[in-house]
Amino acid sequence: MPKKNRNPKSFYLLSLGCAKNTVDSESMAQLLGGAGYTGVAEPAKAGVLIANTCGFIGPAKEESVNALRELADGKKPGQMLIAAGCLSQRYGAELAKQVPGLDGIIGARRWMDIVDLVQRLRAQPHPQPIYHLPDTPVVGGDERGAMRAAIQGASAYLKIADGCRRPCAFCAIPLIKGAAVSRPSESILAEARQLEAMGVKELILIAQDTTDYGHDLGMKEGLSTLLERLADAAPGIPWIRIMYAFPGYVTDRQIETMARLPQVLRYLDMPLQHGHPATLRRMRRPANVEWVRDTVGKMRAAMPDLAIRSTFIVGYPGETEEEFQTLLDFAAELQFDRVGAFTFSFEPGTASEPLGDPIPPEVKEDRRRRLMEQQQRISLAKNQAQIGKTLDVLIEGKGDGLSLGRSYRDAPEIDGMVMVEGDLPVGEFVPVRITGAMAYDLTGAAATARAIGQPIALRE
Ligand code: SF4
Repeated sequence: MPKKNRNPKSFYLLSLGCAKNTVDSESMAQLLGGAGYTGVAEPAKAGVLIANTCGFIGPAKEESVNALRELADGKKPGQMLIAAGCLSQRYGAELAKQVPGLDGIIGARRWMDIVDLVQRLRAQPHPQPIYHLPDTPVVGGDERGAMRAAIQGASAYLKIADGCRRPCAFCAIPLIKGAAVSRPSESILAEARQLEAMGVKELILIAQDTTDYGHDLGMKEGLSTLLERLADAAPGIPWIRIMYAFPGYVTDRQIETMARLPQVLRYLDMPLQHGHPATLRRMRRPANVEWVRDTVGKMRAAMPDLAIRSTFIVGYPGETEEEFQTLLDFAAELQFDRVGAFTFSFEPGTASEPLGDPIPPEVKEDRRRRLMEQQQRISLAKNQAQIGKTLDVLIEGKGDGLSLGRSYRDAPEIDGMVMVEGDLPVGEFVPVRITGAMAYDLTGAAATARAIGQPIALRE
């Protein structure tokens, strides 16, 4: 596109990585919009190109570097390219060596300064990239009025905190984001009210560790308190979903609150990472697997229809076949509804660095495959148990004459879906009688004459 047709006050923002990064991308887009910049969908049409990168593990870092290189290769005179996010925060100047053509680098801790950086880049020639990586220990709390949410259809990710104080040996997040910073409850509640007014039907609470919410604000049971206040503040939002709970911090109060509040879904994402105490100790993760058994037992007693998602890492340095077998047995015993499995990614700068990466990739991959094959059988059985039940399904799309949606048992993008006969309204809840089950997905038909779109009957 000839330079003359490209609006210098337009931006193209590519968001990579996790839902927390998606929220940062949305917030940066809002701030740019507030400064008179227009978002465009094609890089060629933008004056400013921004990639909000992921710097968590090897494959994600690679994806981010490749995306930046692609943008740099396509960059036209007058366009500027900015690398934002976790990869920028973690590697800074090193990134500029890997991606020639970068104009600016801004870290994940100061996403809110994106407009300042763009204006600095527009104001002065910059033969070298301009770095905006101030040495701040944590993610900035000055959000400059940007909403910390990412709306996707009738759902919204709502960020309640950023950063993490946990010592997990394999994880680079504390290096990137610093310790946990909880957002003031009032800001979160105000955004929940805004999202309710915008017709959002599902709030997905995210942070690196939602169970640590409020700790840095001196709150006890901060997450439970926040759930109660959210239910009061946004009674019109039928679904509140909790992601990223940290083992050892799901309290009796939280279980009681989840069981009592109708809006809080009987769904919990709790990454456990392993099931063998010795591996967990080497990972510097809570190694009390008895606690996990007890807590899962308590949760299921209080919420028999609870869906639990967990995540595991296989191939961690020192993981023996016996330790891996213990993980398999642990996952088989606890019967999680949803499981994500990842092979260990060697991450320089983390506490696990000295352990190296001794387990061959094919062994790691074999273990990941065996765990997921076992999980497929478990997930299928769990799904088959839904046949004959009626679940409220949030319709999100269409395909092959079917309507596609999610039940309370499915978080977006990572869990299964429900395929429903008929042409049903997107963004609405529909009661669906489950008629079939696959390893991850369910099938069904709209159940009752209850007027589609009417508020769903929250559970008693
Ligand atoms: S809880 Fe552990 S794995 Fe999760 S972000 Fe924090 S340090 Fe990383």
